[in-house]
Amino acid sequence: MSPQSLAAYACAPQRTRGRRHTEAAPGDRSEYQRDRDRIVHCAAFRRLEYKTQVFVNHEGDLFRTRLTHSLEVAQIARTIARSLALDEDLAEAIALAHDLGHTPFGHAGQDALNSSMRSHDPAGEGFEHNAQSLRVVDELEDKYAEFRGLNLTFETREGILKHCSERRALNLGEIGQRFLKRQQPGLEAQLANVADEIAYNNHDVDDGLRAGLLSIDALCEVPLFARHHAEVIAHYGKLTPKQLRHETIRRMINALVGDLTENSRVQLQNAAPKNVDEVRAQPKPLIGFSETMQHENRELKRFLRERLYQHHLVYRMTYKAQGVVRALFEALFADVRLMPPEFFIQAQAAEQHNGISGRARVVADYIAGMTDRYAIDEHERLFDPRRLR
Ligand code: MG
Repeated sequence: MSPQSLAAYACAPQRTRGRRHTEAAPGDRSEYQRDRDRIVHCAAFRRLEYKTQVFVNHEGDLFRTRLTHSLEVAQIARTIARSLALDEDLAEAIALAHDLGHTPFGHAGQDALNSSMRSHDPAGEGFEHNAQSLRVVDELEDKYAEFRGLNLTFETREGILKHCSERRALNLGEIGQRFLKRQQPGLEAQLANVADEIAYNNHDVDDGLRAGLLSIDALCEVPLFARHHAEVIAHYGKLTPKQLRHETIRRMINALVGDLTENSRVQLQNAAPKNVDEVRAQPKPLIGFSETMQHENRELKRFLRERLYQHHLVYRMTYKAQGVVRALFEALFADVRLMPPEFFIQAQAAEQHNGISGRARVVADYIAGMTDRYAIDEHERLFDPRRLR
């Protein structure tokens, strides 16, 4: 989108707050296109292909992974950004990067890593995937000659850091300020956050049905699903299960995106921010669903939490995954020489500088960077005496 057609309250690339290390202008690309390209070319992005969304990667080839999830979020985010005359490239960059800090095995892995870190380093910050996503783009990607990380713009980094404790915010400089001042991020960050939710609620319905963990009958307890399911039946009569599932879900996504766009448009008109600073100073986010849709969306989330995320089979996999992550942390933290040499050296340096917290952080970085299959393999390499390498 050309800069002229952006709304006054959009994050325009030519008005970026800039990068931590000054660089020459990106030439034919905008600053946010450059951010997006750097994210797509980084190793952490490629690893998303083998990281769990809900189903562990080896459970089936057709389930969402963190990578396909991120692509769906980006696609929804671009649509909303374009409708509201916001910067599409920025919304896309944030969406593609938002899950870079996820551990193997999704939230199960994160919870295990967090509790392991806290038990060995009670005074430390623990592990949080959102903060880790920022750490990946700020520190851990290490392939540019002139800086560590990807040296992204302030606006992309602000979007990646969706939430943050006050304690952590104090150590983050400029990017942590909004959590201390209770301000909002830019609109592109706000919409990427809701696009994430729209994407996972809907693809989890899809994957849950395909895995046989959810049924259409049960889903019809959820008003948002029931309404669109009835509409599809009334319109087409008999369909195959695959068609029925897809036709219902695509209508749900449309309804959510449409409501979000319309309601946000009204909120933007009412608040009439003249620029991004006025967006940031608002008491609440300006991007959001109408009250009715918010309620329906909450019902869908509650259903998924009770029937899918706590489903016996998912729960059992969660238990196993947490065991793998916990065992890896215990062993590697107790003896950092068990990690590959580059991490061992980093852990030693970090411990000299920052004590136990430094060591715990490097072990967490190593584990968080693993894909599901790498973590399972590393677990075998460490604990199965028959494995040599
Ligand atoms: Mg996500």
